[in-house]
Amino acid sequence: MSGKIVVLPEALTHKIAAGEVIERPASIVKELLENALDAGATDVRVELTGGGCGSIRVSDNGGGIDPSDVPKAFERYATSKIYEFDDIYRVETFGFRGEALPSIASIARVEMITRKRDRVSGTRIVVSAGRIEEISDAGSPGGTTITVSRIFDPVPVRRKFLKSEATEQGSCVDVITRTALSCPSVRIQVMAGGREILKIPSTADASERIALILGADFTDHLAPVEATEGGVRISGFLSGPDYTRSNSRNIYCYVNRRYIRDYLLNHAIMTAYRNVIAAKRYPAAVLSLTLPPEEVDVNVHPAKMEVRFRRPREIYRFVVESAGRTLSGAALSAGKPTAFAPPVIAAQLSGYRERVEEALKRYTLSTGRQKLRFGASALPGRPNVPPDTPGLPEIAEASPSLKRSPFAFASLAFIGSFAGTYLLFSGDFSGGEHLVMLDQHAAHERILFERFAKSQEGEKIPGQRLLIPEVIHLTPKNSAALQDVFPVFERAGIELEPFSGDSVVLRSVPANLGHEDVQIVVRDALDAFSESGRTLSLQERQDEIIRLMACRGAVKANQSLGPAEVAALCADLDRTPFSATCPHGRPVYVVLDRKELEKMFKRR
Ligand code: ADP
Ligand code: MG
Repeated sequence: MSGKIVVLPEALTHKIAAGEVIERPASIVKELLENALDAGATDVRVELTGGGCGSIRVSDNGGGIDPSDVPKAFERYATSKIYEFDDIYRVETFGFRGEALPSIASIARVEMITRKRDRVSGTRIVVSAGRIEEISDAGSPGGTTITVSRIFDPVPVRRKFLKSEATEQGSCVDVITRTALSCPSVRIQVMAGGREILKIPSTADASERIALILGADFTDHLAPVEATEGGVRISGFLSGPDYTRSNSRNIYCYVNRRYIRDYLLNHAIMTAYRNVIAAKRYPAAVLSLTLPPEEVDVNVHPAKMEVRFRRPREIYRFVVESAGRTLSGAALSAGKPTAFAPPVIAAQLSGYRERVEEALKRYTLSTGRQKLRFGASALPGRPNVPPDTPGLPEIAEASPSLKRSPFAFASLAFIGSFAGTYLLFSGDFSGGEHLVMLDQHAAHERILFERFAKSQEGEKIPGQRLLIPEVIHLTPKNSAALQDVFPVFERAGIELEPFSGDSVVLRSVPANLGHEDVQIVVRDALDAFSESGRTLSLQERQDEIIRLMACRGAVKANQSLGPAEVAALCADLDRTPFSATCPHGRPVYVVLDRKELEKMFKRR
């Protein structure tokens, strides 16, 4: 269909543009909530009907709007937050484009009642499908209440894109949760269909709020991240290696208070967890970057959910390093600092835990039918959330019995071994007796992996030349993966040379590894490279090779160890970072305390 070119009427262009900002009820909730926070509110109430598809009301106790400004707030590009373009590189408010209110009003009916504290009376305005229908003086408490109804009436096709009410409500709650994480002191109450579904009290700082929102389950497994470099600050919490999820939805990233979804940051976090958690598992994390506003462009996405960094490489490296530092000291149940954790973290954490516990006592989450308390009364290892509340964090795979308090392996008393694989120790720490069970293979694997990784960091793992080079025969699939891998193997101390189409010559092997083991490592690595379905990065390929080397080189299950070997293993483990899990992400040790045993024997 083509014909004469016409300029679209303004009302129509508004409706089209609104689609970029207002996709679904959750987008309305986000914009209204951010406006309330920008207005300095300390108390916000969100009321939803029909999962946000029926109506959305946001009331705040913020600064309110002057009567003469009320109609202007609904004009496109009308904002009180910036005055010239460059201001967007200085802006500290969530909003600055002056787009939200006119966009919402062009696709729904909006009633706003607002009063500035220093005015005697307030203003009521009704704007529907982009037209002001009423405006008058009105009595009002200080602050602003906006009610949005008849959502998408002027653009009925958009309704077809909505999901079920439960799903839409879930998205609204997600938006509220994310926003709440960035404004710890603001009290937020959420009602749905007349029932209170969320009540978040004012909290002293971000860490306390994280505990409230993500649940005690997460806080039991988290470790703090805190670093500053060149004007960029990172702060927040990462889950330890024994707490993982099946998806990345519990990774929350903030840049200058703004929740964003960013490939670079997610990738940096996953890189820090590489070799710490199992493949296809994801951590939970709340990370906040604070950087000078001119270092980041927030004006690249309609809903401001993405940003562009001026120096992305530096930010990436900084995040990987800071997160890696935290994880290298993390034990199972990272909430408890370990022998490796710098004392400063331990100190931070102890104060932190007390505050969290205090906050948990004050926090209740209710569904109307049942009231659940965060903390002790929730089922162990289960989410602290009623299952019928959409949009709240899903079940985490965390094992509550994988607890460790700080101790050194060398200080434990060796009892003996079980099933030829598990070394049993007793230890007196944290004011009680404990039984520590160590998987000898997993422990040795981690020790070797870290040792290989460290010597590779220097330059390469030293290799020993074989007196008689060996020919390794490859499968066709193996040999297809040979492209460019010779230098990668060489860095691991494995010197290979092409021989014929389907074989290579092995010239040197890393110390401590037999040539038969090395043959297996070469074949398994080539298999892994060809099976991955994509081209692995240099780092990923190096890691895979040393992971396999650590696995082949480590003591096997059923290999019996003498007391001297056990002592050496313990001493090595104490010097090894990331010792809580093996390079595949499986636990290295499990601790049972005496009380738990007594419970098993019904002595308590
Ligand atoms: P922006 O937030 O980008 O400035 P909006 O369309 O969201 O644009 O809002 C327009 C203006 O209306 C804001 O700049 C602000 O001055 C005013 N405003 C909107 N909501 C509130 C509120 N809850 N309290 C006080 N002022 C508000
Ligand atoms: Mg706004």
